[in-house]
Amino acid sequence: MVDEYRHKGQRRKMIEELRQLGIRNQKVLDAVNSVPRHFFLSSAFEQFAYQNSAFQIGAGQTISKPHTVARQTELLQLPAGAKVLEIGTGSGYQCAVLCAMGFKVHSIERQKLLFEKAGPLLKRMGYKPHLYYGDGYKGKKVFAPFDGIIVTCGAPDIPEALLLQLSIGGRLVIPVGEGETQRMFSFTRLGEKEFNREEHGEFAFVPMLASRATDA
Ligand code: SAH
Repeated sequence: MVDEYRHKGQRRKMIEELRQLGIRNQKVLDAVNSVPRHFFLSSAFEQFAYQNSAFQIGAGQTISKPHTVARQTELLQLPAGAKVLEIGTGSGYQCAVLCAMGFKVHSIERQKLLFEKAGPLLKRMGYKPHLYYGDGYKGKKVFAPFDGIIVTCGAPDIPEALLLQLSIGGRLVIPVGEGETQRMFSFTRLGEKEFNREEHGEFAFVPMLASRATDA
């Protein structure tokens, strides 16, 4: 695992592309720039790591596009130190970007294979997220409330458990829809049962599976 000059150069170019695609938050761009994305891909895809594309990561899942990762991170609108829950650890890439933002990160993955791979990699890279193997549809009540919850798989609906695990002022960023593409929503918790909903365009995700972990 080496982060060479050419990787850093490719990453800087990718940051310019993200800026052109509308990512404005400099903290988010800096965080994305600090994470070697090629560490999260198999060697077959390494040379494409800094293209704005999704790739297979095993178990039928994909690492999200850099633009999607940057946009979801931006939509959280949270300061360093915020407590954030991610649903769908996958490769661990989005998780690393959240850690690089200075967030206290909790992340849940339901595919055992991916859960077992992401932990050691993130640790070797020096990140310290709390990782769990299980069903993120239910959130992680014991560690609630969260200032932010970010869902990185397409949800069939809005899981109520996630809304209720937000702190007041906290925000859920979630792609919703069961077809090929999903609509990105953010929900800000204004009160006990009061939420402000905003829509942020179309994105493509693998489906959220609302069931128990595969072999739990
Ligand atoms: N954030 C990841 C994206 C991986 S794709 C990355 O940066 O690589 C979405 C992930 O969500 C997949 O790994 C999939 O297994 C996981 N997933 C789907 N449904 C889930 C659920 N109910 N609970 C937890 N993880 C889930």
